[in-house]
Amino acid sequence: VPPVFKYKQLLGILERLNAGEIVIGDGGFVFALEKRGYVKAGPWTPEATVTHPEAGAQIVGVNCHFDPMTCVKAVKMMKEGVEKAGLKAQYMVQPLAYHTPDCNCQGFIDLPEFPFALEPRILTRWDMHQYAREAYNAGIRYIGGCCGYEPYHIRAVAEELAKERGFLPAASEKHGLWGSALEMHTKPWVRARARRDYWENIRPASGRPQCPSLSTPEGWGVTKGHSELVQHKEATSAQEMNRVLEMQKKAKSSA
Ligand SMILES: [Zn+2]
Repeated sequence: VPPVFKYKQLLGILERLNAGEIVIGDGGFVFALEKRGYVKAGPWTPEATVTHPEAGAQIVGVNCHFDPMTCVKAVKMMKEGVEKAGLKAQYMVQPLAYHTPDCNCQGFIDLPEFPFALEPRILTRWDMHQYAREAYNAGIRYIGGCCGYEPYHIRAVAEELAKERGFLPAASEKHGLWGSALEMHTKPWVRARARRDYWENIRPASGRPQCPSLSTPEGWGVTKGHSELVQHKEATSAQEMNRVLEMQKKAKSSA
């Protein structure tokens, strides 16, 4: 019987992971908050990155910029590196809730849809089940989400790992697992979808016949450390905007 984690006092993240808990990170779902008017773009918080295993980080992982399977793959490689160095760590993954197979090395920030037209790329809850399983099988025990995550995505992650964690999330009270509530649906063809293998094998269409399935990322050659990426204190002036548009023209014509 897997242990049930019910704490009387708050524990640190390392204490929880080292006790064998699978922690579900309820990500920032930044865009959801932005769209709802709760947050505005502002200065960036640089994310800590692990480049040398000998640095001895206690939790190693990646956050944001790429889709779940890509991020799990990255953490797997990091884990290999850490283990090769003869070290031990806990592993964390907090990917996007967007599919990004067409991204280059900078991730979704270079996609033309970034940041306000990414919705057609959103993972389904069933994709999230797959991701949670893949992350767990890779040995990752802090499994969360970043931009694009909605509460039902996090619930799907927690439901996939319910057996391992020993409990279902509280929000599972609101629906049936694997679409089982559809047993009550009035349409018989929808009732026929009240089963796991239907949703596990669905290949959802985007419904956008004029749209490509993949995009071409921008390639301005501007990356971390470049002077163009310094956070501005003031909003972009009209003059600056002209300069940026010129840069865009140049980047497009050289592409
Ligand atoms: Zn993010």
